[in-house]
Amino acid sequence: MNKKQIIDNELNKLQNAHRLEERRAKAEILRARNIPEYCTIDDEIRKIRLNLGKLDEKSQEIKQLEKELSILQKKSEQILKAHKINPANLLVHEICPKCNDTGYIENTMCECLKINVQKALIAQSGINGKLNFDFSKSDTKLLEQNTQLAKIHRFAQNYCENFPHNKETNLIFWGEVGTGKTFLLECIANELLNKLHYVVFSTAYDISKSMVKAYNSPYNERDTILAPLFECDLLIIDDLGTEPLFHESTLTNLFTLINERQRNNKPIIYSTNLTPEQIDERYGNRIKSRIFNDRITMPIKFSGFDLRLKK
Ligand SMILES: [Zn+2]
Repeated sequence: MNKKQIIDNELNKLQNAHRLEERRAKAEILRARNIPEYCTIDDEIRKIRLNLGKLDEKSQEIKQLEKELSILQKKSEQILKAHKINPANLLVHEICPKCNDTGYIENTMCECLKINVQKALIAQSGINGKLNFDFSKSDTKLLEQNTQLAKIHRFAQNYCENFPHNKETNLIFWGEVGTGKTFLLECIANELLNKLHYVVFSTAYDISKSMVKAYNSPYNERDTILAPLFECDLLIIDDLGTEPLFHESTLTNLFTLINERQRNNKPIIYSTNLTPEQIDERYGNRIKSRIFNDRITMPIKFSGFDLRLKK
């Protein structure tokens, strides 16, 4: 599913739930209308409401009619209660009174829809709730000591702010193990998911596994497995270089994925413990030159010390 399909899907769920609620209320109204004395009063109430609607707002009659209406309403409630019907159940209870279950408030997505879209995006993203970090969890003391890392953090925050209109749409974080690359990847993923971008976060190992699985599956299943990798707004590939290369199709699959995404202007962020030279050695120049395409990729070197050892 692409993002539009995910949003449509969640919107459908909301509207279906609303229709179900309407149906429930309607059934309850029909039950009440089976009570003859309720029907009589209910018809009178309707008539008064109709009249009230026709009157000029300054009319003297309004007060009188409203008084009658209130008496009739009390009576109708008593009748309903006597027949074990809760008067409140005759009304349609909106799931979200803010947007009246339309999902939008003046063209802006309502919080109720946003939360569900976000959950659906996360469910599709391969993250499985494993994202532990966001920018608010940055170690400020550490960033004060390490100006290079602080610069990288600011750059990443800017990247998120401008997403998807960054000049360099792709990033590659490279450097030794434990220098904070995955931490920052998780911050970026969290930040962009919060803004309802469709982010897929995966290790190179899992991507290569699911691509092998996809290409060994029947055609119709293949698409379901691969769609998130090709269609998401941002693909994050963690730990490039740790996936096994024994399957000869791994390289072809990786090349196809990177190439297709670049062709469609869909960003990728990589992290790797390999140097650019090692990437060249491992994947060959065809892949390396795409990953380090300096027209669209910003390579960021993480260095200095091991964050894991510091803690
Ligand atoms: Zn709403």
